Amino acid sequence: MAKRDYYEILGVEKSASKDEIKKAYRKVAIKYHPDKNPDDKDAEEMFKEAAEAYEVLSNDEKRQRYDRFGHQGVGGAAGGGFGGHHMNMEDIFSQFGDIFGGGGGSPFDSFFGGGGRSGGRRTRKGTNLRIKLKLNLQEIAAGVEKKIKVNRLVVDPETTFKNCTTCQGTGQVRKVMNTMLGQMMSTSTCPTCGGAGQMVDHRAPGTDSTGMKRSEEVISIKIPAGVAEGMQLSMSGKGNEVAGGIPGDLLILIEEIEDDTLKRDGNNVVYELYVSFIDAVLGSSIEVPTIDGKVKIKIEPGTQSGKILRLRGKGIKDVDGYRTGDQLIHVNVWTPKSLSKEEKELLEGLRESKNFEPSPTKGEKSFFENMKEFFGA
Ligand SMILES: [Zn+2]
Repeated sequence: MAKRDYYEILGVEKSASKDEIKKAYRKVAIKYHPDKNPDDKDAEEMFKEAAEAYEVLSNDEKRQRYDRFGHQGVGGAAGGGFGGHHMNMEDIFSQFGDIFGGGGGSPFDSFFGGGGRSGGRRTRKGTNLRIKLKLNLQEIAAGVEKKIKVNRLVVDPETTFKNCTTCQGTGQVRKVMNTMLGQMMSTSTCPTCGGAGQMVDHRAPGTDSTGMKRSEEVISIKIPAGVAEGMQLSMSGKGNEVAGGIPGDLLILIEEIEDDTLKRDGNNVVYELYVSFIDAVLGSSIEVPTIDGKVKIKIEPGTQSGKILRLRGKGIKDVDGYRTGDQLIHVNVWTPKSLSKEEKELLEGLRESKNFEPSPTKGEKSFFENMKEFFGA
């Protein structure tokens, strides 16, 4: 699914001032606010989309990168709900402080049951789910769609809720205390509902006290090409649900399965090639594995051990999509360890031959020098 242009989302010109962007966002946010559009998935998407657009366009540096590179410039390349800029509801609501000038007079007061962000009911978020995902080199290089089973906590559809009897749905309890300075009012989060303002009225068998149950679901995840060990992707809203709130996120931790023949080094792929002494002397054509199948490479006559050959573009695409690494082939000349009597005699006959005497010239670089040249160390 292609991402929409941020300017288009907010309905402003590319040359819009910061103030115009802020005003435009305020309008869109009010129109699609979830409290005004309950259970409307489209409105929720528009709301999130607008928040993401505002997050980028309101920041000079991000806006500049977006203008130059588009969505990829601000981490939106992964698509399918990934990337640093997919915001969850909590992030979005935390933006509102700047947009609407904090508590008093905010157009959201009525939606939040009065009191703005500092008081009243707050949107609760379910807990995040974490999974590990093992990928082989081919999957990493090409990107892959994986179907995985997750065990989520979901709100049972038969569960019904009523206003919390402790706080009457406000999510807060007030206490009047007599102090030396006179009577003082203190407000705290309702201990019964944890601030949600709601409590379970009826629940189906097999659900826990909060009306939740475990549900095994198969979720399809699109992994972009170029991910690496230790990277974490997040799919917003695919974590545990919570009654009266929004679901948490599904966090996917990438693990790499080491390849038997190709070693990854950043975006490059390294292959150790062993050639016979004869092939190195006389030249040859040799098949080597790459990420996407075998290719034939030419070994020039007189190839030295330690030479590095480069297959341009045969490495791994950077996760931002701009560069692709190379495959580097380390040439190792294999020295035979055991010889027949005839082979020994043949070689003995060549021992005194001038051509077999090592005479490295400036052009012959050692393995170490080759490495330095390739990696700029
Ligand atoms: Zn309560």
